[in-house]
Amino acid sequence: MTFDIKKIRADFPILSREVNKKPLIYLDNGATTQKPQVVIDKIVDIYTNYNSNIHRGVHYLSSYTSEAYENSRKTVQSFINAKYSHEVIFTSGTTGSINTLADSLCQDYIKPDDEVIISELEHHANIVSWQVQFGGKGVKLKVLPINDAGELLIEKLPELISEKTKLISITQVSNTLGTVNPVKEIIKIAHQYNIPVLIDGAQAVQHTKVDVQDLDCDFYVFSGHKIYAPTGIGVLYGKEKWLDKLPPCQGGGDMILSGSVSFEKTLYQRLPFKFEAGTTNYVGAIAMATALEYVQGIGIENIENYEKQLLEYANKKLSSISELIIYGNAKNKACVISFLIDTVHHYDTGMILDKLGIAVRTGTHCTEPLMKRLRIDGTVRASMAFYNTFEEIDVLCSGIERVKTMFF
Ligand code: PMP
Repeated sequence: MTFDIKKIRADFPILSREVNKKPLIYLDNGATTQKPQVVIDKIVDIYTNYNSNIHRGVHYLSSYTSEAYENSRKTVQSFINAKYSHEVIFTSGTTGSINTLADSLCQDYIKPDDEVIISELEHHANIVSWQVQFGGKGVKLKVLPINDAGELLIEKLPELISEKTKLISITQVSNTLGTVNPVKEIIKIAHQYNIPVLIDGAQAVQHTKVDVQDLDCDFYVFSGHKIYAPTGIGVLYGKEKWLDKLPPCQGGGDMILSGSVSFEKTLYQRLPFKFEAGTTNYVGAIAMATALEYVQGIGIENIENYEKQLLEYANKKLSSISELIIYGNAKNKACVISFLIDTVHHYDTGMILDKLGIAVRTGTHCTEPLMKRLRIDGTVRASMAFYNTFEEIDVLCSGIERVKTMFF
């Protein structure tokens, strides 16, 4: 397939708007991605024509939405190549997925003095979710360090593993530095010690082919809104052998075994419903399937290829700007560039770029421990998607030069 960037951009209505009287240049895709018209249309279509709560009614609308919801589960299954569709749990997003899993694992499997290994690159979602466990006492976290390029020192992993290690929970791609971690290798090492692995795929699924069976990860989580789907929907994938034995952590409608509820005791539903208490974001799930189908239509390999060229171009151009410091120079990177212009505060750079219509993120990117490791209090982050263009990178570079003229 030829990558027709003009046609692709036309699929995303927001990309043709102006901000501050300049064409919008949206480089904040790590925070959230824009939505193609098909996804917007799908949401409107459901609310206009089919809306009804799922799994509860015998009437036409409820049957329709229930079927569409379960078909969406199958779409996710095929997108990440899960063995069974019941290994796909719908959640509110990556944060929701990690918290759900942490709550469930810490009921019985992880005990208060056990350990979970994370990395220095983790998003707060994969740090704090463990710290809120056990009434706030938290799970003991052991941290895999990085080198100055922002790559994991994977050779240190065996040293961190002890008989108390109950889980390794690592991001596949760093949202701040763009580092692509060798998760397959980590999973292989972990399994030699019989330790399960959770992969935070929030910044990975939209950039590269994810095959959970090939990775052999025990759990995989991601957010819909970072892969062109609506907010408030996400995925917790878990191997059947794990999800089957883990207890639910939220009780309510739809997760109970029909006929079993009494004031004394209740039995739970089979997978995946055991983990989906109450009314789920079924509209979000159905629209997420539309987004995944849209991505499949373009081809994740084509996306990866194009983004690789875009990253190379951006890296080359930004590296040639004097006074610009790039944070994160891993050999294997996704389409993210974090930088500072000498001593100019990231917030000032972001504000000036915004006046030029350029949306970048500034701050710690929910990775405060990583900021401490880098000895900075934030960066400017340009995170690209397959609808960004080489010309937009040129405009970003001119914007950076403009910032420099205002400060130096
Ligand atoms: N993990 C990573 C690596 C992320 O980039 C993010 C979002 N920035 C999250 C977790 C949390 O995702 P969400 O806010 O969609 O729950």
